[in-house]
Amino acid sequence: MAKPAAKIKAKLTECNFINGEWRSPLSGEYLENHNPADARELIGRFPASNAEDVDLAVQAAKAAFQIWRKVPAPRRAEILFKAGEILLRRKDEFAQAMTREMGKVLKETSGDVQEAIDMTYFIAGEGRRLHGFTTKAELPNKTAMCTREPIGVCGLITPWNFPMAIPSWKILPALICGNTVVIKPAEDTPHSTYNFVEALIEAGVPAGVVNIVCGYGETAGAALTNHPDVRLISFTGSTDTGRIVATAAAQHDKMCSLEMGGKNVVMIMEDADLELAVEGVLWGAFGTSGQRCTAASRVVVHKKVAKKFTAMLVEGASQLRLGNGLSNRTDVGPVINQDAVNKILGYIEIGKNEDKAKLLCGGKRATKGDLKHGYFIEPTIFAGVKPNMRIAQEEIFGPVLSIIECHDLEDAVAIANSVKYGLSASIYTKDVNRAYRAMEDVQTGIFYINASTIGAEVHLPFGGTKATGNGHREGGTQVLDIFSEWKAVYVDYSGKLQRAQIDNQ
Ligand code: ADP
Repeated sequence: MAKPAAKIKAKLTECNFINGEWRSPLSGEYLENHNPADARELIGRFPASNAEDVDLAVQAAKAAFQIWRKVPAPRRAEILFKAGEILLRRKDEFAQAMTREMGKVLKETSGDVQEAIDMTYFIAGEGRRLHGFTTKAELPNKTAMCTREPIGVCGLITPWNFPMAIPSWKILPALICGNTVVIKPAEDTPHSTYNFVEALIEAGVPAGVVNIVCGYGETAGAALTNHPDVRLISFTGSTDTGRIVATAAAQHDKMCSLEMGGKNVVMIMEDADLELAVEGVLWGAFGTSGQRCTAASRVVVHKKVAKKFTAMLVEGASQLRLGNGLSNRTDVGPVINQDAVNKILGYIEIGKNEDKAKLLCGGKRATKGDLKHGYFIEPTIFAGVKPNMRIAQEEIFGPVLSIIECHDLEDAVAIANSVKYGLSASIYTKDVNRAYRAMEDVQTGIFYINASTIGAEVHLPFGGTKATGNGHREGGTQVLDIFSEWKAVYVDYSGKLQRAQIDNQ
């Protein structure tokens, strides 16, 4: 096995991590990471890397690939199991750091770190499987088998809303399959990626196998997607950026997996347990301040219960306490940055101007007391929304929920499917027949019955249909299909030339 990467001496957030060393960026430039709950607080300066920095990291990953691909998968897994233990030990510390850099409340950042821990153990288990298969050949004295092979250097581009979980979804399966990686974390949340990689280093991941290049999407991200030695790009982010990434990947014949936007829906039938549904919608719409890719941003409710449900929901939303996520009195933290504030308030204005949409609560930036130093937006609910309105069609990525009334299940399903995305959907009903029909007919990659649209578990495939993705699934053993490619092997023990499709006619 290759020598272990250098141990971290101190927090070196001003450096990239390349070939087992913390290195200042060749660009000489930095970006600042601030706490969204109080923008006066600087989390740290991180590299604003350029194409040369990216090249250094890719060359390191390329060289390390030749060693790492030969390490038996169960040995790679042992390192990951160790990383899981380290993450568990440092869970509280990493969750606190994540709340400071990203804003979501502590119980959610603990969940984010836990998801990385779950993923670590789950994927480490795959080190002793990585199953291929055998099959019969069409000629006598000949057999065939298929094995998973590593791909090479993987470029990973991640967003800020799950700052540790999403990097873990990509780095770990890439490593177990024998690939090496260069990760470009989101500008707003590099620190959590550093923490995750620190755990991998301490666990003994060899130099060059995992590299971090921090920086802006348009420079560092683009340099990675355009680098000829990067064989695969795995991207999570907005649909617009995903399209740019996919286009660049196509120019270099790279493999490319995309995980993009959503406009997720909760359908509430007239027989639903309304209290349960209200709880689920509040959690789905306003947890993480609505900034999950699976966040509920539309509720389609049967007209018979719409009034009652809406009153209960508004009552619940008005009790949610905005604040710093480090306080256990806080239900809803800030949104990520000023651009997010502008975008979300812009959509609220659009909603207010859309014919018949009625603002029931929220609708403003919260600026009372210390909140004025952060990016807080009140939980916002619109009623009377029509399915084709912009607030019902476009991804807002903030605490804004649209309530749409429906006549029956068919109507609800049609509304659910009327958006360009297809990530997550849910239905609240006590009627098993309707639940199953909805499950079958709603065009999403994830579906919940009597639960909200959020809460994916790592051992199930995660991803969406339509403009949400390009057909791949992260999580589950399905993620191995992203990070490995199949090799078909024919073994002919007949001792003579046997011609497929010819000699067996
Ligand atoms: P969001 O709107 O959620 O911030 P983005 O899609 O803009 O999502 O960003 C997701 C990730 O993609 C981030 O790491 C960002 O830096 C990166 N990124 C943005 N633009 C590009 C680009 N042109 N090429 C490669 N990566 C990019």
